Amino acid sequence: MSVTLKLYNTLTREKAEFSPIDARNVRMYVCGPTVYDYAHIGNARPAIVFDVLFRLLRHVYGENHVTYARNITDVDDKINARALRDHPGLPLNEAIRAVTERTETQYHEDVAALGCLTPTMEPRATDNISQMIEIIEQLIARGHAYLAAGEVLFDTKSMRDYGQLSKRPLDEQQAGARVAVDAHKKNPGDFVLWKLSSHNEPGWESPWGRGRPGWHIECSAMSQRYLGEVFDIHGGGLDLIFPHHENEIAQSRCAHGTDVMANVWMHNGFVQVEGRKMSKSEGNFVTIYDLLHTDTFGGRQWPGDVLRLAMLMTHYREPIDFSVKRLEEAERLIAKWPAADPSDAAPADVVLEALADDLNTVAAVQALHGLAQDANADKSLLHVFAASAALLGVLPQKMEIDEAVAAEIDRRVKARLELLKAKNFAEADKIRDTLSAEGIQLKDGKDPATGERVTTWEVKR
Ligand SMILES: [Zn+2]
Repeated sequence: MSVTLKLYNTLTREKAEFSPIDARNVRMYVCGPTVYDYAHIGNARPAIVFDVLFRLLRHVYGENHVTYARNITDVDDKINARALRDHPGLPLNEAIRAVTERTETQYHEDVAALGCLTPTMEPRATDNISQMIEIIEQLIARGHAYLAAGEVLFDTKSMRDYGQLSKRPLDEQQAGARVAVDAHKKNPGDFVLWKLSSHNEPGWESPWGRGRPGWHIECSAMSQRYLGEVFDIHGGGLDLIFPHHENEIAQSRCAHGTDVMANVWMHNGFVQVEGRKMSKSEGNFVTIYDLLHTDTFGGRQWPGDVLRLAMLMTHYREPIDFSVKRLEEAERLIAKWPAADPSDAAPADVVLEALADDLNTVAAVQALHGLAQDANADKSLLHVFAASAALLGVLPQKMEIDEAVAAEIDRRVKARLELLKAKNFAEADKIRDTLSAEGIQLKDGKDPATGERVTTWEVKR
């Protein structure tokens, strides 16, 4: 089936048919993590949403005809602060590397557990400093940037149509600007392209002295290097529209003299936790790692595919209220789906059409559930379900348990029963949790004849 892909474009505030610049190389850029701390579920959402889009584009245009770039921001003042706090004894460069490498590795583990494919490329900001310097030089040469008080600043008034994405008038952007701090700026909305570094801040040599880039210039440089001056899709969370994406557009368009940076701008909605804005002070700050590996949310660990499905049960542009109830709902649903191996079969049209309609994952999940019921009743339909589930990245995998493994599980279940008899509940729970993490669910009951405690086990899915 040839499919018409429609996407909502923040730039035009309209849903329109997607037509790539080059169907042999569809190019998408998504703003990635700043690597200084564990990724929270607000970070999980764009990773999952744009992974579904990546899968869909690969299906429509062919696996080798889509380039997905997601950057790693590894230079940022929050990273410096974390490096100084965690590694006070190390030279700054080494301390920073320790923080960014550890966080980057953790991020990759987290999003892999959520079923996200690896993007085609994941450029690091620090590997692209010379490209940033080049763009800043172009902006100065074209009269869009100026030096003031040790900073290179973008002159927002120099761009005729600055503010198109967020549709904020320039005057509004002054709100909250502190006059004393910003006295060196020509306009309150002007933003930093380059700033000087002191000896205890990371820095690179530049025509304006040893310094470091502002955040926005990173994405302009990396998207140009890997995707070109104009590319197809730029994505990120709603909170990035202003100022980050607005300023990316200003930099790229003014440096290259183009009318657009990306043709389609896509933004996923906000994530709340149990009805409240997520924040460390509210005590409802939930990391992906915690959800997967600790009992801090709802008193238990959650499998990655349940987390992913819970996210996809809301349309990406709507806000999500992330809650235990929602996760339980996703888990009940996925428990009814058959385990299957990935299949080369074509996905069902009903799933494909739902996704092609601006990633309507809500309708796609509903359709997938119908296919799962069909496949449960008739095994010959399993491959269509598997191919459709793979398009959403929520394919329950078959877990093969051989005899030796089964005997080992029996042994551990028995050991747990002995511990329970001895009232050593802590150790008994440890065995249950370890098995649970391995995908084995225990069910406690009583033998109706003897009244003795018995435990059976099953593979979760
Ligand atoms: Zn960005």
